[in-house]
Amino acid sequence: MRCHYCDRDADVAVEKDGVKVGVCEEHFQEQMEELSDSDALENLREELDIDGAE
Ligand SMILES: [Zn+2]
Repeated sequence: MRCHYCDRDADVAVEKDGVKVGVCEEHFQEQMEELSDSDALENLREELDIDGAE
């Protein structure tokens, strides 16, 4: 899967407007910052264990 925002390989898949899209780690973190007010963010972080990922 390819990143939705650039041409790199996607590291994770996220749901955007009901559609799953791939994003690279850099763009994933950008999206997370935009979503920082959302409870879904916390759930997603726990699910993906972002802090522990290389
Ligand atoms: Zn990207």
